[in-house]
Amino acid sequence: MIAERLSALRGRITRAAGHNPPPALVAVTKTQPESAVREVLEAGVRIIGENRVQEAQTRWKALQDWREKVELRLIGPLQTNKVRDAVALFDVIETLDRMELATALSAEMAKQNRPLRCLIQVNTGEEPQKSGIRPQELDTFLKDVRALGLNVRGLMCIPPVDEPPELHFALLRKLTDRFELPERSMGMSGDFESAIRLGATSIRLGSAIFGDRT
Ligand SMILES: *Cc1c(COP(=O)(O)O)cnc(C)c1O
Repeated sequence: MIAERLSALRGRITRAAGHNPPPALVAVTKTQPESAVREVLEAGVRIIGENRVQEAQTRWKALQDWREKVELRLIGPLQTNKVRDAVALFDVIETLDRMELATALSAEMAKQNRPLRCLIQVNTGEEPQKSGIRPQELDTFLKDVRALGLNVRGLMCIPPVDEPPELHFALLRKLTDRFELPERSMGMSGDFESAIRLGATSIRLGSAIFGDRT
């Protein structure tokens, strides 16, 4: 089932990319059993997105035989008391969203000598309940986190549920262009084709690969 879904998705990704290089596919494994994650790995996916540090630790203890071959990305919110575990486990942090976290990450990466790549989460919809840096604060935030020595590779966003996602993808595109950042993490199961057309360099797919979450 999973292998078939993936093969259909790869076709849609290639077609949406057209003449451009297709984006990286990040398989989002939240709530999935180890067996389903193994299927995805056996079908050739090599980038995995995790929402929670603790769930990821448990999963990758069980999947240790795969760990070296896989890039692990944190795509959920990170509490400062989980920074040490996150730096030890992940390769990329996609949800850098506040200065307090940047400071803690910078100190911990130096301590563990693991300079992970980071993306800044942008609150493109300026939703009060959602984490992320507001677009107009990005300039200052970027300067401040770079001054800490963090390796900021790009931006990620999660558009508001009740608005056309294209507006938000286009905004993320504009912001990465303005700040000359190479990576854009945008697009999920319901909207990845428009994200690709608007320049996603990675898309995060959960239910389209695994089926609906229970
Ligand atoms: C769950 C999740 C996804 C994947 O969502 P689907 O709609 O299942 O593809 C992508 N990004 C983040 C941040 C998520 O939490």
